[in-house]
Amino acid sequence: MAHPLIDLHAHSSVSDGTETPTQLIRAALEAGLDTIAITDHDSTAGWDEALTAAAGTGLQVIRGMELSTRDEWRSVHVLGYLFNPNDGDLVAETARIRDDRLTRAERMVGRLSEDFDVTWEDVLAQSGGVSIGRPHIADALVARGIVRTRSEAFASILHFRGGYYLPHAAPTVLDGVRLIANAGGAPVIAHPATRGADAVIDERMLVQLIDAGLVGLEIGHRENTDAGRATLERWAERYDLVVTGSSDYHGEGKPNRLAENTTSPDALERIIAAARGVEPVRG
Ligand code: AMP
Ligand code: ZN
Ligand code: FE
Ligand code: FE
Repeated sequence: MAHPLIDLHAHSSVSDGTETPTQLIRAALEAGLDTIAITDHDSTAGWDEALTAAAGTGLQVIRGMELSTRDEWRSVHVLGYLFNPNDGDLVAETARIRDDRLTRAERMVGRLSEDFDVTWEDVLAQSGGVSIGRPHIADALVARGIVRTRSEAFASILHFRGGYYLPHAAPTVLDGVRLIANAGGAPVIAHPATRGADAVIDERMLVQLIDAGLVGLEIGHRENTDAGRATLERWAERYDLVVTGSSDYHGEGKPNRLAENTTSPDALERIIAAARGVEPVRG
């Protein structure tokens, strides 16, 4: 293949994608991908099914995760690739995040149910039960006919400033990067420029993250602003960081399509070289 398509950020129904890991692998094949990373929020529960589904297809699967972290009150997502899924600290921290996601979602629905005809049972019916979030609340609102789409829910009722939002527990971005690196993984900041001209982290924090083991920045992502990308490109050059591009595919849960952004083979090689938890697997 002249230009192997490499997409390093995709969600399954283990978190808030709408397709099972098996369906995600089929979609990756249909999109003509050479390599896909399965990166559910705060969970590795989809890994085994993804590998089974890819067996014999020639598709390369990178096992990963998108870890929820925070920098003060800001939400920062850290992609972790090829880490040891049995690392005790990472297992404990992701369990804590998922537990708090559950409590937080139930509390949000409690507030919502005062104003809308929606119940906690509605939301549970929309979730795969592993890592729950606002997208599942959105799906319940859609099912009840209160909004038409997930995006409409996020733009209004479920918005950060929509009146019902509650945060969930998450480690600091520095601790998150350390957790992934200590588990043998390669950490990459996901969509680091989604907030106007400002990146979600500043350069001083970036330097600390690099010291803690940060490997790269996901610059090719539809939610990064142009101004933010320019800053990130300068940082990547200055600190010799790996630059990735990815779709952040969620099936029908988001408009993002597989391979709408891709990562170069050289960048993937550097990620693989930086990791020592589990191996890439070509089915
Ligand atoms: P939460 O982590 O529960 O606060 O929910 C945030 C997640 O919802 C993000 O990680 C995205 O994957 C997803 N999300 C954010 N905005 C949208 C949107 N407009 N439509 C669908 N999903 C979204
Ligand atoms: Zn998501
Ligand atoms: Fe994200
Ligand atoms: Fe994502």
